[in-house]
Amino acid sequence: MLLGNHYIDGQWRGSTHGGRREIHNPFDGSVIAVVAEGGREDAEAAIGAARHAFDQGGWPQTPAVERARLLFRLADLIERDSEELARLESLDTGKTVEESRWDMSDIMGIFRYFAGLADKDGGETIASPNPNSTSRVVREPVGVCGQISPWNYPLLQASWKMAPALAAGCCIVMKPSEITPLTTLKVTELAEEAGFPPGVVNTVLGSGPEVGAPLSESDDVDLISFTGGIETGKAIMRSAAGNVKKVALELGGKNPNIIFDDADLDLAVDHALNGVFFHAGQICSAGARILVQDKLHDRFVAALKARMERIVVGNGFDEKTQMGPLISAAHRAKVEEYVAIAVAEGANLVLGGKRPDDPALADGYFYLPTLFTDCGNHMRIVREEVFGPVITVERFTDEAEAVWRANDTIYGLSAGFWTRDPDRMERVSAALRFGTVWVNDFNVYFVQAPWGGYKQSGLGRELGKIGLEEYTEVKHIYRNH
Ligand code: NAD
Repeated sequence: MLLGNHYIDGQWRGSTHGGRREIHNPFDGSVIAVVAEGGREDAEAAIGAARHAFDQGGWPQTPAVERARLLFRLADLIERDSEELARLESLDTGKTVEESRWDMSDIMGIFRYFAGLADKDGGETIASPNPNSTSRVVREPVGVCGQISPWNYPLLQASWKMAPALAAGCCIVMKPSEITPLTTLKVTELAEEAGFPPGVVNTVLGSGPEVGAPLSESDDVDLISFTGGIETGKAIMRSAAGNVKKVALELGGKNPNIIFDDADLDLAVDHALNGVFFHAGQICSAGARILVQDKLHDRFVAALKARMERIVVGNGFDEKTQMGPLISAAHRAKVEEYVAIAVAEGANLVLGGKRPDDPALADGYFYLPTLFTDCGNHMRIVREEVFGPVITVERFTDEAEAVWRANDTIYGLSAGFWTRDPDRMERVSAALRFGTVWVNDFNVYFVQAPWGGYKQSGLGRELGKIGLEEYTEVKHIYRNH
């Protein structure tokens, strides 16, 4: 049995009030770990440690090359333990080990990318209107950062936050999702082994209201970075107003995937599947909302259904498995509720819409790949984030209708479309109001490119150079000679 504690000021400790929480494997509901369940006092202790390390510990003054060295070392340790980390991630989330291995490979790249950027920005000298003066613009670390991550890509999402913050010279308090804390704990151990000074990296465990909320409320936190649901994001934004801390939000998505009738059908079907069925559809950029032009509609739906029928659902540790379970019984109940709503709204259920019959999967939180046609943007199944293996298909007639329908959403995380027409590629890319637009592809992301949402999908950007800048303040130094 794995055990896990908070990591505060370079020490591993249990909760102030002795709370513990069981962590479950979504494949069969078994208990795989028991970890500390913190409260407000633990969050405050971690904030205090980070504040001290930032104000008096010398971390922001540590030369950028030294911060880079520690981050490169951490990436090497993640690489050394990547198989263990991948298996732990699959145990905790239910996703296939193959998917977890891809995550670990991305994560090493993320730490290396931000390590490489850490010592590249020396500021700039700008033209001063006054003779005998110089003006410089420099970037400085923003300070103490609260970082709150979700359960769907636990370590990947944590690394998007940890790596740039540490590269910039910030001190962090990381709160992983209470459902999936194991890989973040393991990487905290590796950060200790890499040699980050006490108080620079702190990890606290527990629920959102008990441990997450104090991070967004505290006057000692300078920036709160959150990935999770929209309603939680709004609550965090409200409490962040208390000391006008900086807010970075990566919220949900309802991501349209538009298939024009000149698309390459086989490729579009292939990527439509990749767009949705990673981690059983529990992905913020899932292309769960497919819009198909009239002429191609029936052929596309037939091909998609045939491919979906062949998806192998099962234990993520079995090499044949292509899709694992959902994260929890409660989350599956939410997906089931959405399917019932869709049927009641008049959507046509073409495939799935139920749990698998296989008795070997009865203890896990499984749900079959599900396909609806005859959908429209008035339906809740189309407007709201289901976060499960459910695709809706809508028909459209022309380009203007496709763009209008795709943009008719409160979300703006990502969108994709398929066409062979170069002019349309440009027109539609420009017209779509989303933070990422994929042309003839779906769900492609890499650390060099910024990631984030338009509209209610979020605030700010992670990854890319801008992902580092989010963790900095800009200072103008004017010197009169
Ligand atoms: P969630 O909002 O329930 O929880 C996310 C995190 O916030 C958890 O660590 C939770 O403990 C914490 N939290 C909950 N209430 C809080 C509060 N009042 N104050 C502070 N922290 C609190 O989301 P989830 O169910 O873990 O994750 C799924 C959501 O995350 C989906 O909506 C998905 O789209 C979104 N997501 C977005 C991205 C992106 O890049 N935009 C990536 C992954 C997931």
